[in-house]
Amino acid sequence: MFIGNHLSSSKGYLAMGKNAIALGANTFAFFTRNPRGGSAKEIDPKDVEQFLKLYEEEKFGKLVAHAPYTMNLCAEKEDTRRFANEVFEDDLKRMEYTPGQYYNFHPGSHVGQGAEAGIEMIADTLNRLLTPEQTTTVLLETMAGKGSEVGRTFEELREIIDRVELKDKLGVCFDTCHVWDGGYDIVNDPDGVFTEFDRVIGLDRLKAVHFNDSMNDLGAHKDRHAKIGEGKIGAEALCRIANHPVLAGKPFILETPNDDPGYAKEIAMIQEWTKG
Ligand code: FE
Ligand code: FE
Ligand code: ZN
Repeated sequence: MFIGNHLSSSKGYLAMGKNAIALGANTFAFFTRNPRGGSAKEIDPKDVEQFLKLYEEEKFGKLVAHAPYTMNLCAEKEDTRRFANEVFEDDLKRMEYTPGQYYNFHPGSHVGQGAEAGIEMIADTLNRLLTPEQTTTVLLETMAGKGSEVGRTFEELREIIDRVELKDKLGVCFDTCHVWDGGYDIVNDPDGVFTEFDRVIGLDRLKAVHFNDSMNDLGAHKDRHAKIGEGKIGAEALCRIANHPVLAGKPFILETPNDDPGYAKEIAMIQEWTKG
């Protein structure tokens, strides 16, 4: 299985690759730029080249880059929206340094304009900025439905995808904490949730997993991640999900509240769960 966690990109790609290996991981996630700001580090082609060599040698799974949280494509203020579009455009260029990987983003928060308006704006950006030449697959993340988040249901994600022309450049990242907080019972009925995902979106779009426990109850719409086995989803259910055939071969990214030793422990535990 492919498992890893979010790594700091401040020292570049090769450092992340080595960091992942040190944690026992074989994939990882990273923020393309300051997650709470927007500034991005200049990419060093030499560093990327060395990293790509390591990536091949180590047979890493797909990387799951993450857009900054501040990138809200359906913000109410026009300048916030313009900034988000600039970030998105620049990130797509940056992603091509590491061809064929995933770029995951939170669809956005409509801040009172209504989900429908939000969906339109998000699809607008995708139609303007996705290109047939890009090798990156852009992933919409399933959201917990905190505040006015768009993507709180599979239907909302489907509505975005429906409006996008270059659909083959789009996928979905399944966040276990968010889906649970969104009201999908992955503890008692994982098969039912995946069947529903397939009916509404199509399982061929499910490209990556954010693997988290949740501090809150089913349908809480809170979005507070817990360590694996220490939340309301629990180890037993998460073990079943990790072994679920529809997720086989997908990159699993931990976004649990951990330090490095904690991540190494969780990575080893999940590898143990899924081996054989
Ligand atoms: Fe996220
Ligand atoms: Fe997530
Ligand atoms: Zn979250």
